Amino acid sequence: MSEPHTPAGKVESILKVLDELYPDAHCSLDYTNPLQLLVATILSAQCTDERVNMVTPGLFAKYPSAKAYAEAPITDLEQDIKSTGFYHNKAKAIKAAGKEIVEKFGGRIPPDLDALVSLPGVGRKTANVVLGNAFDIPGIVVDTHVARVSARLGLTSHKEPEKIEQDLMAAILKERWTKFSHQLIQHGRKICIARKPKCSICPLRPLCGYGMDPSTPKA
Ligand code: SF4
Repeated sequence: MSEPHTPAGKVESILKVLDELYPDAHCSLDYTNPLQLLVATILSAQCTDERVNMVTPGLFAKYPSAKAYAEAPITDLEQDIKSTGFYHNKAKAIKAAGKEIVEKFGGRIPPDLDALVSLPGVGRKTANVVLGNAFDIPGIVVDTHVARVSARLGLTSHKEPEKIEQDLMAAILKERWTKFSHQLIQHGRKICIARKPKCSICPLRPLCGYGMDPSTPKA
């Protein structure tokens, strides 16, 4: 693991503000078991969680097991998830992942990072979402919001998700990883928006070099 990139005092202050802003931050995808969360997370790529949550009740009822996904006609699965976008690739990944879960893991989602990332369509982000939320195994989820907000806050100077993950893992206590990820995702959706961050109303501004920079465009 890399050395912490940010002084511990600053990290603690950031965590305190995030706890005040988002005390109940959690995964906004609907699911009741690890398989459902895995599928919902694959569907959430380039799609809103709200849209995914509209599609998944019917999908989960139709495909209650990894075997059901593995055996699904690909054209049916594509139609079932079409409204989430990129449905050719997503259907292919879900079907292939279902097959491997059956063949390699006896139909159960493995609670292990290396095993999860060996599945088709599953990268570290998806694996950490599943581990952190379905298994209570802490993980840093580096999605577009976490990457952007952590860079603006000075918690990382990297652009590659794996290096950002390493920086955040080094800076933050393990038991906080999952909640911290959800807090940054919420902050990125509500205040630290990609194109026009609302720095003037952001409680993290005194801790944020980007927000305090006079050249930062004002919302
Ligand atoms: S001050 Fe601005 S850039 Fe910094 S975290 Fe807040 S909204 Fe994002």
